[in-house]
Amino acid sequence: MFSINRKARILTIEEIPESDPDYLKELEKCRLCEWECDVNRLEGETGVCEIGIPEVGHSSLHPAPPASYDAFMVGCNFRCLSCQNWTLAHYPKSPRGEVEGYYSPKDWAAMGVESLKSTSAHMIAADRLFFTGGEPTCSLPWVEEVVKEARKLDTKMRVNYDTNGFMTKDSLKRVLELADSITYDIKAYNDKTFNALTGAFVEPVLRNAETVAKQAKGKLWEFRILTIPGIHEEEVEDICSFIADIDETLPVAFLAFRPNFVMEEHHGAPLELMEFCVQTARRCGLENAEWSGRPGIKGKTVEETGSDLGMRFAKGAGCVSDPRRCGDCENVHECDVKKFVASRLT
Ligand code: SF4
Ligand code: SF4
Repeated sequence: MFSINRKARILTIEEIPESDPDYLKELEKCRLCEWECDVNRLEGETGVCEIGIPEVGHSSLHPAPPASYDAFMVGCNFRCLSCQNWTLAHYPKSPRGEVEGYYSPKDWAAMGVESLKSTSAHMIAADRLFFTGGEPTCSLPWVEEVVKEARKLDTKMRVNYDTNGFMTKDSLKRVLELADSITYDIKAYNDKTFNALTGAFVEPVLRNAETVAKQAKGKLWEFRILTIPGIHEEEVEDICSFIADIDETLPVAFLAFRPNFVMEEHHGAPLELMEFCVQTARRCGLENAEWSGRPGIKGKTVEETGSDLGMRFAKGAGCVSDPRRCGDCENVHECDVKKFVASRLT
């Protein structure tokens, strides 16, 4: 088994085994996601995601759903205020970043396939490989290579792709080719709120959500909506109407916000908000909406709501731009949000 780079630094092409195929070539001019940074990630240049060669933060069986063997990839093209996996998403900028490192795709595929045969996997009914992060789109060539290798070992190997949806049309086409199931986050509907929460813009996320729903409905495990009190009371109807206009039978899961990362002092989503979300979804016509998570975690309540609430937390963590649009921000490589250390891990 091969893995290198457990330290927080950018990994370049010279450091990975020469025997690996040339599958990373496109990272010479990276345009995998909608930021289309055009940087040479093989030689140490970085874009918004701040990573070079794809690396695995953590590998493990996970009850998800769907239950699976997961690769939590480092790096993310968003800078979400409520990130659950901030030590990996912000690696190598995060001072808390610790990772497994680079794996040859063949090695990680063998490890994943083997793990899915284990007793532990059977006990949780894990039946597929699962790529998440961070955002796996920043590592898409590696994910494709792993899937190819895994299906040489087991032709029926299933694959889940967990995404924030901020990928180019071409990357989405590639994801639809490799994935059997897709878990898809819609963080907000209105661009101002989306900017404040993520540092990105919403249009490609909605465009790709519509493509997945119309062209690959059978692969959509669910749309996931992290429900943040003070923000999603105003957003949820727009998100639900958007989904219902595509197809009222699409699966939707509201996840109760728990205090995390930059928003670790904000209070969790109350039970009433989660019930309100499901009722709103039903009122919009959605037939398959439910909520999950642990509501009611205590924290502070602030006066602001909507995008103002997001910007309050962003500025508190050192964001210097309003609106937050990280790909256009002069401070992108010196960003304090990327380096923010919460008082606890999630
Ligand atoms: S942010 Fe997107 S386009 Fe930019 S380097 Fe990362 S994956 Fe490539
Ligand atoms: S400072 Fe710039 S790069 Fe950092 S979160 Fe704010 S907008 Fe994004």
